[in-house]
Amino acid sequence: MYRAPRGTSDILPEEQAYWRHIEQKVVNVCHLYGYERIDTPTFEDTRLFSRSIGEGTDIVEKEMYTFEDKGGNQLTLRPEGTAPVCRAYLEHGMHNLPQPVKLYYMAPIFRYERPQAGRYREHYQFGYEAYGDGAPTLDAEVIDMAWQFFSSLNLHRLSLNLNSIGCRKCRPGYLATLKDYYSKYAQGLCSDCKVRLERNPLRLLDCKQPLCQEVASSAPRSINYLCPECDEHFNRLQGYLKLLELPFEVNHRLVRGLDYYTRTVFEIKPEAGGAQSTIGGGGRYDDLIEELGGKPTPAIGFAMGMERIALNLKKQGIAIPVLPRPRVFIAYIGDEARDEVVKLAARLRRAGIGAIGVVGGKSLKAQLRQANNFAASYTVIVGEQEVRTNTVVLRDMVTSEQITIPTGELQGRLNTGLR
Ligand code: ATP
Ligand code: MG
Repeated sequence: MYRAPRGTSDILPEEQAYWRHIEQKVVNVCHLYGYERIDTPTFEDTRLFSRSIGEGTDIVEKEMYTFEDKGGNQLTLRPEGTAPVCRAYLEHGMHNLPQPVKLYYMAPIFRYERPQAGRYREHYQFGYEAYGDGAPTLDAEVIDMAWQFFSSLNLHRLSLNLNSIGCRKCRPGYLATLKDYYSKYAQGLCSDCKVRLERNPLRLLDCKQPLCQEVASSAPRSINYLCPECDEHFNRLQGYLKLLELPFEVNHRLVRGLDYYTRTVFEIKPEAGGAQSTIGGGGRYDDLIEELGGKPTPAIGFAMGMERIALNLKKQGIAIPVLPRPRVFIAYIGDEARDEVVKLAARLRRAGIGAIGVVGGKSLKAQLRQANNFAASYTVIVGEQEVRTNTVVLRDMVTSEQITIPTGELQGRLNTGLR
């Protein structure tokens, strides 16, 4: 027997209600904030990711699904959503459009990770990006949108963490100080952090090992090393978030797993969460468009994991709308009636009334059992007598009441009854 590859899963019909519900909220919030959908290819040139995400990051070093196609091209399955959208922004000359250009996506993401609850090798992200506006008002709006999205899903008890990691002017100075500080503790760091110290010192701050966490807790804080411009940006952003009454906390240890971030970084997680708890994260990436060959263009984005949203909806016991399904079952008695019922079912469907019929055992009892299994609201029964008189029996499955009506009245009755 074949099984889905490790770290992947089938989204079965009973799960789909969650997905459609989340998607519906995505579409609503994007409309409210003026984001338009973009879909990019599932794979891209490998260099797009290694250049943008950064060579020393976990994603590029350990997690990418990279392959060579039959034409010798190095390709990678999308390990995150931002770089492809940036590529599309550049490729289609979107800098000529009125800025900010606001785009969103819902797409599968591939990362070779150690699978566990809330962590998969293929997962879906909803993300959005805004290009061409460097003002902190946009940061506030992007954060507000994430917060409103979760509110619209009725997700409660979330925390909003905020930090600023500076820009290419001030970050090198901070990183030097950070390295100095960590060098004193190098012996006691975990093996990953020993590598981070050399290759990606910012990531030292979010190591999950208890000993490393202790070292991180008294590490120098990036916001104390910001240049005047970054400092002003961060202060104004906090002012706007207060105006919007968003309950943010500055978290000095919040850094992100990708190299392209500048200034603002933020994350949203459930209050009582474990290691796989972050629902979404984002930040500014003011240099990325330029690094990918465009002219300097400030930008900011956010991405969240759709499986983790669904997990939290379940954990918090939030009711979601059920998906519509046919509520009319059509049963028949006798061969002549079966022909009638084949036509009747088709006629109802053409009129926009979902119908299930001509299934189940031949006996009426077996068919009514089927109707119950399908949770039908009404069963329409046609026998020889009904065929002859051009009528149908309409049975209300809740009250078990039955009436005989002319076939021509059925549609009207169902339209009223199903409302
Ligand atoms: P984590 O710290 O949990 O590894 P991350 O920083 O790698 O998350 P991002 O790259 O910011 O995550 O991706 C945005 C969101 O996508 C995450 O906040 C999370 O909700 C979700 N996500 C990331 N990786 C996975 C995964 N392997 N499986 C399921 N969801 C994921
Ligand atoms: Mg990760």
